[in-house]
Amino acid sequence: MTNPTAAQPFDIERVRRDFPILQRTVHGKPLVYLDTAASAQRPLAVIEATDRFYREHNANVHRGVHTLSQEATDLYEGARRGLARFINADSEREIIFTRGTTEAINLVAQSYLRPRLEPGDEILITHMEHHSNIVPWQMLREQTGAVLKVAPINDRGELELDALEALLSDRVRLLGVVHISNALGTINPVAEICRMAKRHGIPVLVDGAQAMPHSRVDVQALGCDFFCLSAHKMYGPTGIGALWARESTLESMPPWQGGGEMISRVTFEQSTWNELPAKFEAGTPNIAGGVGLGAAVDYLDGLGLEVIAAYERSLLKYATERLREIDGLRIIGTAGNKAPVVSFTLGDIHPHDLGTIVDHYGVALRTGHHCTMPVMQFFGVPATARASFGLYNTLEEVDVLADALEKARAMF
Ligand code: PMP
Repeated sequence: MTNPTAAQPFDIERVRRDFPILQRTVHGKPLVYLDTAASAQRPLAVIEATDRFYREHNANVHRGVHTLSQEATDLYEGARRGLARFINADSEREIIFTRGTTEAINLVAQSYLRPRLEPGDEILITHMEHHSNIVPWQMLREQTGAVLKVAPINDRGELELDALEALLSDRVRLLGVVHISNALGTINPVAEICRMAKRHGIPVLVDGAQAMPHSRVDVQALGCDFFCLSAHKMYGPTGIGALWARESTLESMPPWQGGGEMISRVTFEQSTWNELPAKFEAGTPNIAGGVGLGAAVDYLDGLGLEVIAAYERSLLKYATERLREIDGLRIIGTAGNKAPVVSFTLGDIHPHDLGTIVDHYGVALRTGHHCTMPVMQFFGVPATARASFGLYNTLEEVDVLADALEKARAMF
């Protein structure tokens, strides 16, 4: 699994040259992009792979005997194989392409869990979930009479594992947990949580949207049952992502959406389903997106996730130190094990004002509830400002952020 070429030291200047957008200015200042947790920027490798696809190979996949269709199919299915290898899936049949994490979770809710639920059965999630790992279960609750339970967090923004374990009753039909919180940066001990759930015979869905760009994900080592991801968080295109689950689990699930591609035979009386993974991929897919996802996987693999993670840890450490020096700045999310995400408030300045002011210094911060309103409620804030770092950020950019925040503070 480990890429032998990846043991190189991390050459940040070379890496930055891979991302053309980093050359641009905003309000006359160099762009300092600190919104990677919302959507990462794309390297040339991804941009060129999608460009080449449209210029040279564009056609619909799977159904054509002509050369372009076969080339498009090879590229699209090659990306599936690449992703399967990247996350250590047993086979590419375990990779269902979706629009992203959100669609992957909805697929599990409607196809896996809905037929298995009786009124009073429980779905367990945690207090730090993204709305995409809350709302699909609430909708399922309305449809089935199931009960939604929530495992608590502490004031550092860490899961309370004992309390979580105490909630693993024999009524729980699924545990949904975020691998890395987009709002707090917390890295959850997902393998340990999966072992805990296994002892109670409870399947686990991992929301891996934020994990993919920051850590080496091995779905078998994690021991989860479902893993959901989005390409745009991992330097790939928007509108494509994937659900991973074991073949036996996917075989046991009915299709979710009906249409072309997912069938084997259709008559007006009855239809039969295609094999995996096509059974869950109704309609023409995001082919260029898949090709771009494949290129993003190769890009991350080429740099080496262990090397990326080590570099990002230095960014997080420096950013935390620098921001702590700012009078009145409160960091929300101080877990012992964190990804390079720093959420904060600054005195009484509304995060949206803060975001607007630092934008004038070229700094792109995200402000708001980050699709985690319950996290905001827990910490008693309406919103935070969030600096989220990627493999292309630098220590100097942390200084630009800190200086811009000092200037904002001085204005109020
Ligand atoms: N979960 C987490 C932790 C996220 O950060 C996001 C995106 N912000 C999602 C789920 C949803 O991902 P998408 O919008 O790509 O479906």
